[in-house]
Amino acid sequence: MSFCTVVNCMDGRVQLPVIRYLQDRFEVLYVDSVTEAGPVKSLAEPVDETVSQSILSRVAVSTEKHGSKIVAIVAHDDCGGNPADEITQRRQLEESVDFIAGHFPETTVLGLWLDMDWSVFEVTSRDPAGGA
Ligand SMILES: [Zn+2]
Repeated sequence: MSFCTVVNCMDGRVQLPVIRYLQDRFEVLYVDSVTEAGPVKSLAEPVDETVSQSILSRVAVSTEKHGSKIVAIVAHDDCGGNPADEITQRRQLEESVDFIAGHFPETTVLGLWLDMDWSVFEVTSRDPAGGA
């Protein structure tokens, strides 16, 4: 069994494209999903402590119980939970990747952006601290 992790939006349109992308990209069988409405809004500065702590505790289940070494974070066009423009969302995505990487230094952390046609773009990443 192999797992990776995604911090995804709860939007139904982005679930399958992200899961399929991660399965292909990392050859994993299972993608553990942590969902919020526009999660990068809560993980970027200023961090929303209530939401971010909930996300961190759920990501930790995936890394600790399932041995996930990869965490992807998703932002997307037309996000109901985070109706900021693309430039703002991409900045929040960068900050969110830094935030998660700071808490899970053993993992690779990716930022994914989905366009209006639900194509997946890997726009940023952080390697594990110390290399792996
Ligand atoms: Zn959304």
